[in-house]
Amino acid sequence: MKPYIGVRELRSDLQAKKYSAVELAQFYLDRIARFNDRINCFITVDTESCLERAAAADRKLATSNSPSLCGIPIAHKDLFCTAGVRTTCASNMLRSFIAPYDATVVKRTSDAGAVSLGKTNMDEFAMGSSNETSCFGVVRNPWNLQRVPGGSSGGAAASVSAGMTPLATGSDTGGSIRQPASLCGVTGLKPTYGRVSRFGMIAFASSLDQGGPLAHSAVDVWELLTEMEGHDPRDSTSANIKKTELAGFDRTFVIGYPESLFDGLDKNIAACIDVARKQFEALGHKIEVVELPHIDAAVAAYYVLSSAEASTNLARYDGVRYGHRTESSVDLLDMYCRTRTEGFGLEVKRRILTGTYSLSVGYFDAYYLKAQKIRRLVRDGFLEAFKKVDLILAPVSPTTAFEIKSIKKGPIEMYRQDLYTIPVSLAGLPALSLPCGFVEDLPIGMQLIGPHFSEGDVLTGGIAFQNETDWHDRHPDLETTCTS
Ligand code: GLN
Repeated sequence: MKPYIGVRELRSDLQAKKYSAVELAQFYLDRIARFNDRINCFITVDTESCLERAAAADRKLATSNSPSLCGIPIAHKDLFCTAGVRTTCASNMLRSFIAPYDATVVKRTSDAGAVSLGKTNMDEFAMGSSNETSCFGVVRNPWNLQRVPGGSSGGAAASVSAGMTPLATGSDTGGSIRQPASLCGVTGLKPTYGRVSRFGMIAFASSLDQGGPLAHSAVDVWELLTEMEGHDPRDSTSANIKKTELAGFDRTFVIGYPESLFDGLDKNIAACIDVARKQFEALGHKIEVVELPHIDAAVAAYYVLSSAEASTNLARYDGVRYGHRTESSVDLLDMYCRTRTEGFGLEVKRRILTGTYSLSVGYFDAYYLKAQKIRRLVRDGFLEAFKKVDLILAPVSPTTAFEIKSIKKGPIEMYRQDLYTIPVSLAGLPALSLPCGFVEDLPIGMQLIGPHFSEGDVLTGGIAFQNETDWHDRHPDLETTCTS
């Protein structure tokens, strides 16, 4: 058995009994046991129940109608609630929290037969772009252990990149699936806001949060998406929309090229995306320059809005109902205060404080309301561009994976990592991050962005590109990186 096998091959191997689901799960568990100490991409590995589920998958595989992901391993980001297995959000606040139910995404993938290996590391409460804010320690990039994997779904991206799982779930509020996918050389999709249920996904910024798939290829991302998506009566923002269907591969797209976004981009990264652009042209797609106005204000608006929402969402961690409670306090107020001081890390506290500030009387109009207006303008800019083009090609990250602890100048420098992903989030659009080259032995990704609910087209574009290129088929050599 070897890692990095795609879903379709795994499915046919399992059906042909080349190996059993138990053997497959054991293979990945062994790989995790071997390399997780160095990479730290899993917070919790659930060996026993994983093997039980794999055995159940084998029983189903023996029948004639096994579900689509039957026996295929998956890793869930540790903000999806899992009944019986702890869900920590990489926070001391929830270090030993066990949810009483499964998130819809967890339930649906498990109903589809996927076998959960465990829960992946992340930035605390999904706030960050480097995985450095996790209370379980940083995740290391499988391509170079001195570097970050990106964040906040850094454990998810690293686990796929390291061949410890073929499929992973992540969440993306401002870039948390796309940026780590780019930095780790894997493929990840942020779906349209509303496509995937948020029920049981621990909230950061509810108007932006969206769960999505990460895998080795766009086709595998599609396989997982079709089992995650769909209306859920338990999430009032989930859309009632039909399953994502791929377009025919003879379909040609008009692909927008937002020239101004590439102006300030690192020359080597821009060069990789430029080669990809030419490949799209060679495939018969048409490239057209588009303008995306107001993008410059997106990062600032995002941090006002997402922190405001975080400040209200995280008010529930008061020591009474969930997770950590301080051991010594003199009265109720003191208990709240000590619990939150002890439970939250620095970045989470910063967001709660700035978010509360921008929502307070006297500042609401100046910050929150203004940010909402910018959000609308950014969205309108995209919708205007989509009158002319089917998809937009853009960078994902301004840099390759940076060194651990190298961002020292303060939070703004970290926030600017999401320059290219945040506008898409504000607009609620779907975007695929897929590998398109290497700079100094580190992977680079690009984004294919589409109009609302156009995942079928976005993924078709991605699959067409991956049919012609092999960037997504290159993998880090863990034998070397993890032993040197
Ligand atoms: N890095 C961004 C932030 O810290 C995005 C995080 C995310 O998408 N969850 O808010």
